[in-house]
Amino acid sequence: MLIDADRLHIAIQKNGRLSDTSRELLKDAGLRLQNGRNALTARVDNFPADIMFVRDDDIPTFVADGVCEFGIVGGNVLEEFRLASAEPAVEVVAPLGTARCSLKLAAPESFDWQGPQSLAGQRIATSYPRITERWLADQGIAATVVKMNGAVELAPRLRIAPFICDLVSTGATLEANGLRAVADVFDSEAVLIRTTREIGVTRSALGEALLSRIQGVLTTKD
Ligand code: ATP
Ligand code: ZN
Repeated sequence: MLIDADRLHIAIQKNGRLSDTSRELLKDAGLRLQNGRNALTARVDNFPADIMFVRDDDIPTFVADGVCEFGIVGGNVLEEFRLASAEPAVEVVAPLGTARCSLKLAAPESFDWQGPQSLAGQRIATSYPRITERWLADQGIAATVVKMNGAVELAPRLRIAPFICDLVSTGATLEANGLRAVADVFDSEAVLIRTTREIGVTRSALGEALLSRIQGVLTTKD
């Protein structure tokens, strides 16, 4: 592999709800990034690490493959990845307490919701098919899960599915689309993840140093 054996590689979201808190955490841990927002990577000039700015969905894969030793990602994206992999080589080293949201089952406002059994034989649109399917299995319900990569809240109006399972923080988007949350499927927050692959003594030691700095930041925030 081409990756330097003497530097850490940390994957964070390029643009989105996790970007600011991820940058802030690294900054609070004392890492000074050289490049601005539009770069794909940034060198840290006071710690042997490089930051990769990527789509959040790619972060678990990069860390599990060992392309990056660390990453910051939503627990929801990590869980969906874990359910898709036979042996996901990634572990959570610290929950970060930011980007809190829940994956919720939502029904049309006018629907007479009687509990999960109302979903039997129905269609549910979601970007998180594996988490949704696991929840349905736990409830003992057979329903059809339709995967959408975005704009899930439009599924009922587009007649793709009457129900959706989507991330909610305030519920305003659901309401604007004539939907209401009826069940909690998965609670999420941002998490710091680490590869469980062998990374050698130098990078392991750097990883421990990074982790203790980050844990220092998190305890002062508690
Ligand atoms: P990317 O372009 O990187 O793929 P995205 O559009 O998939 O970005 P964002 O909308 O930026 O992702 O959300 C990133 C993460 O932020 C989510 O996976 C989730 O963990 C968290 N999050 C917090 N609140 C919300 C919310 N209200 N809606 C969606 N995600 C939220
Ligand atoms: Zn994404």
